[in-house]
Amino acid sequence: MQTKKTFSIKGMHCASCVMVLEQSLKKVEGVSEATVNLATEKATVTYDSQKVTDATLSSAVSNVGYQALITEEIRTEDDEQKEKQQELRALRLKVIVSLTLGGLILWGAFPGLMKTAPMFLQNFWVQLLLAVPVQFWAGFGFYRATISALKHRTANMDTLVVIGTTVAFAYSAFVTIFPQLVTNIGIEPAPYFDTAAIIIGLILLGRYFEARAKAGTSEAIKKLIGLQAKTARVVRDNKEMDIPISEVIIGDGIRVRPGEKIPVDGIIIDGESSIDESMVTGESMPVDKVAGDTVVGATMNKTGTFTFKATKVGGETMLAQIIKLVQEAQGSKAPIQRLADLVSSYFVPVVIMLAFATFAVWYIFGPAPSLLYALLNTVAVLIIACPCAMGLATPTAIMVGIGKGAEHGILIKDAESLETAHKINTIIFDKTGTLTKGQPEVTDIISFDGRAQDEVLSLAASIEKGSEHSLAEAIVKAAEAKHLSLSAVEKFKAIPGRGVEGTIDGKRIVFGNKRLMNKEGVDVSSEGDRIGEMESSGKTVMMIALRQAHGEAFKLVGLIAVADIVKESAKEGLCALQKLGIEVVMITGDNQRTASAIGQKLGISRVLAEVLPDQKEAEVRKIQAEGKVVAMVGDGINDAPALAAADVGIAMGTGTDVAIEAADITLISKDLRSVAAAVVLSKKTMRTIRLNLFWAFGYNVILIPVAMGALYPFFHLLLNPIFASVAMATSSVSVVTNSLLLKRKKIS
Ligand code: ADP
Ligand code: MG
Repeated sequence: MQTKKTFSIKGMHCASCVMVLEQSLKKVEGVSEATVNLATEKATVTYDSQKVTDATLSSAVSNVGYQALITEEIRTEDDEQKEKQQELRALRLKVIVSLTLGGLILWGAFPGLMKTAPMFLQNFWVQLLLAVPVQFWAGFGFYRATISALKHRTANMDTLVVIGTTVAFAYSAFVTIFPQLVTNIGIEPAPYFDTAAIIIGLILLGRYFEARAKAGTSEAIKKLIGLQAKTARVVRDNKEMDIPISEVIIGDGIRVRPGEKIPVDGIIIDGESSIDESMVTGESMPVDKVAGDTVVGATMNKTGTFTFKATKVGGETMLAQIIKLVQEAQGSKAPIQRLADLVSSYFVPVVIMLAFATFAVWYIFGPAPSLLYALLNTVAVLIIACPCAMGLATPTAIMVGIGKGAEHGILIKDAESLETAHKINTIIFDKTGTLTKGQPEVTDIISFDGRAQDEVLSLAASIEKGSEHSLAEAIVKAAEAKHLSLSAVEKFKAIPGRGVEGTIDGKRIVFGNKRLMNKEGVDVSSEGDRIGEMESSGKTVMMIALRQAHGEAFKLVGLIAVADIVKESAKEGLCALQKLGIEVVMITGDNQRTASAIGQKLGISRVLAEVLPDQKEAEVRKIQAEGKVVAMVGDGINDAPALAAADVGIAMGTGTDVAIEAADITLISKDLRSVAAAVVLSKKTMRTIRLNLFWAFGYNVILIPVAMGALYPFFHLLLNPIFASVAMATSSVSVVTNSLLLKRKKIS
């Protein structure tokens, strides 16, 4: 059986670690899919649980020098937090020690500065003594990672640091211990302990800042978890008591007082109130709710008091589902990242070759003392080329982007959807329930043959009782409002995109649109004008026809028109999209005239009407064939195939049961403005990623030639290895900071 598991991995530092781990995990027999995320420090593996055990996965990870935390499933968020804090503290100590010692060595060794330093600091042996703990204690992690990488014939960023600093340290130690030998070959014996120590200190400092900033990228999840109520006031055996939320069971009656958080999902049984659902839906206006309405856990009760029955608890609640979805999405990989990963996996070996070349060229052709130039430039190349920031460029931005979406009620299924959304240039909206409220109301009833209007409505409502369509609901509701009695229906059948049919008292009745009437041979031409007039004002007209006995013809007995109100947010939402240069299309099963009337109201010029439900998908593909990147916005239930066919399927969530699986993006609120917000979020995230990649990668590429000495022949300019390490630490920090800036960007 295929199983999917996500677990934490310790010891990763760079994009090449990601590649090494993924390859090692994929090599395990029975593993079909493995993705490793540097920003979340997690691996997600899909495997055959009969062939693969936790132990095999764990050893696949430890074999390449990392640690997997698979079996410790009881670890809570708190434990993880504490552990992270501890790691941060240890890292900070290493940074302080190495920069202090490195600083002292620098003071005693730097030309110009050294004259002010106490004599003993200028002593090479003292410098050696100060450098040893930095190199082998603070820098121990680099060695450990390098050794395990070498065991697997790979190299990573730590390898570059190790080679670079070890070269500097070893040369300096040699100079200190055997000054005579160096003097003999014509070089003044001067060590470079400061270079090695300060490089280590700065790289660790970069990692420290990076780790701190990375913790900020997962803030959205923490916020969501923090939304959860701690206790619930349940009514059991007629007694009210406060119990921890984990003890609430389905069916419990729960009392909510003014200003209290609603603990779990449920249905109001008694009382009414206005509820602030903004934390989950992103919609700022409070919603009025009465008995029978659903409430969502973690939302805030405002003024009223009510009792509700718990229908979903624990991991089933909407909030728990959202948290799970967001976590999974944050760990997923954007296509753009695969490219970055691939590039950085080739980067390290190429850099090592370049470093060798640099050494050789300077040693052979360089000015005297050529050995020194060769050494220092090689170290600079190794340090400047670390592709560390590259591994962070995409995942940190994705984490922030997806988290930000969740805060606005925009649930994005994975990084790929977030990436694709920025390319959307056409959005197709379903009409009913998406652009309109989906709660149509009966506006006109017209009867023929001297029948009463109520009789027509009653017949229609009797048949519609069996349909779940929103039009059916409107008709049944209208009949109920008039307290009409309904008749029993036999042989009921719904004809998708057309209407319904059934038999009442042995008489066959069909109810639906013109297409249905045509099919049954009902002549409606005499009413053409009246129907046309109602349709032109945006109403949907349905016709009812009756057949007295088998073999006779159907006769038109009435018309019922319903109108659906356009959502308040529709106009503004569509306008925002058009401003982004996106073409808006409306698709509906409704007739052309009604559809055009509504399209006109909303400023939509391209209206696809009378599209049968199973043809919506084909329409999406048709527009895609025009070379467009298409998003489809629907209510997620009957539009599923069209949502799946679109490049980005956007489902309008229905509040409680989020159609999470069907769509790429789910908008929890029914507010149409969030469609544009989702597109803007995608655009801003992609811009952040591109800028990140530039910071991470572009400057490596620019500075490697400088470090190799390309500018030396013209300007006598070389890159000091210490500056190389400053630049490299800055790049990681700036990438993560840039991702965090995304949090502050406005998307709606
Ligand atoms: P939409 O695209 O607006 O969701 P559908 O494809 O469900 O529309 O339906 C298209 C048309 O078919 C409706 O506008 C209506 O005229 C007719 N129809 C569908 N179902 C019913 C029904 N249950 N009762 C009456 N008419 C219906
Ligand atoms: Mg529909």
